[in-house]
Amino acid sequence: SQKVKDAVLIPRYVRVNEHKTTVDKAIQAFIKEGYTLEEPRDDLSSLSKLTVRRDIHLNDLLVLPPNSDLHDHPMYISGELILQDKASCFPAHVCNPAKGSHIIDACAAPGNKTSHLSALVRNTGKIFAFDLDMRRLDLLKRLTNKAGCKNITPLHGSFLEVDPNDPKYAEVEYLLLDPSCSGSGIISRLDHLVDDEQEANGTERLDSLAEFQIAVIQHAMKFPKAKKVVYSTCSIHPQENEHVVKTILASTDDFVLGPRSEAIPTWKRRGLVEECNDDKDIAESVIRTNPSEDYTNGFFVACFLRKEATTDATN
Ligand code: SAM
Repeated sequence: SQKVKDAVLIPRYVRVNEHKTTVDKAIQAFIKEGYTLEEPRDDLSSLSKLTVRRDIHLNDLLVLPPNSDLHDHPMYISGELILQDKASCFPAHVCNPAKGSHIIDACAAPGNKTSHLSALVRNTGKIFAFDLDMRRLDLLKRLTNKAGCKNITPLHGSFLEVDPNDPKYAEVEYLLLDPSCSGSGIISRLDHLVDDEQEANGTERLDSLAEFQIAVIQHAMKFPKAKKVVYSTCSIHPQENEHVVKTILASTDDFVLGPRSEAIPTWKRRGLVEECNDDKDIAESVIRTNPSEDYTNGFFVACFLRKEATTDATN
């Protein structure tokens, strides 16, 4: 199909788990094994075998050639390296929680973003990690233990049923929301997009996913101290992305979209302006990745900020 031709080979992205090592140490270990350290670059179309480079947007990410198999690598086995697509490393960086803060990861399993948040705050504060699926939550427990996370409280259940006024969550300021989505941005191991004709991408299915996604964001906004709410999908459909953002903005008096500076400003591809009622500000504020051109899976991120938090300086 057209999609197969369009898709590009994605590099092997490696997130350095800063609970266990540093980017410099990981690079040195690769060099010792015979890898060559190359300059960071934008064009990832032809990466030579046994090369490693820093990512140009994210400071805890390394880029290796496609098909590098690190599953038996000692740094992977020890939990020093986490195999995570670049786009799925965006949400935790956009969230950028302060050390010591309380955070909710609402749809957390298997926990890649949870462990990323944990590393960014250096095991301080508290991360409440919810998931509806017990087996997936068990996997989260295993993976976050392996990664050396000590500030995570895994909780089984629906985030939508969590009481925002429970005193346990009174200090929660950051919420990361990565709810179930169509997965239409995911490039399979064969490096082609999941077939668009599948039922998973039918209008009805997308409508019901969007309804759930909107409910999750609106629920997050009820937490009394919430000041930053980061929403992400691995979908390329506007119905789950820009349209969800528009619905949320129309339904809240308390939150606004954070400016581009809050959401990886150096990343060039932003939202689809034609899907934002031609509102350039909305489109600029959100992130998109295009699997055909960006050497990542298809992804979307939006960052909502509580109004007081943005107007404090002028009050
Ligand atoms: N954030 C995860 C990561 O980076 O590893 C991936 C999350 S996955 C896209 C969505 C998750 O939402 C699934 O694990 C699913 O079980 C969970 N989920 C679905 N409905 C939920 C609900 N009502 N409350 C909490 N979790 C839910």
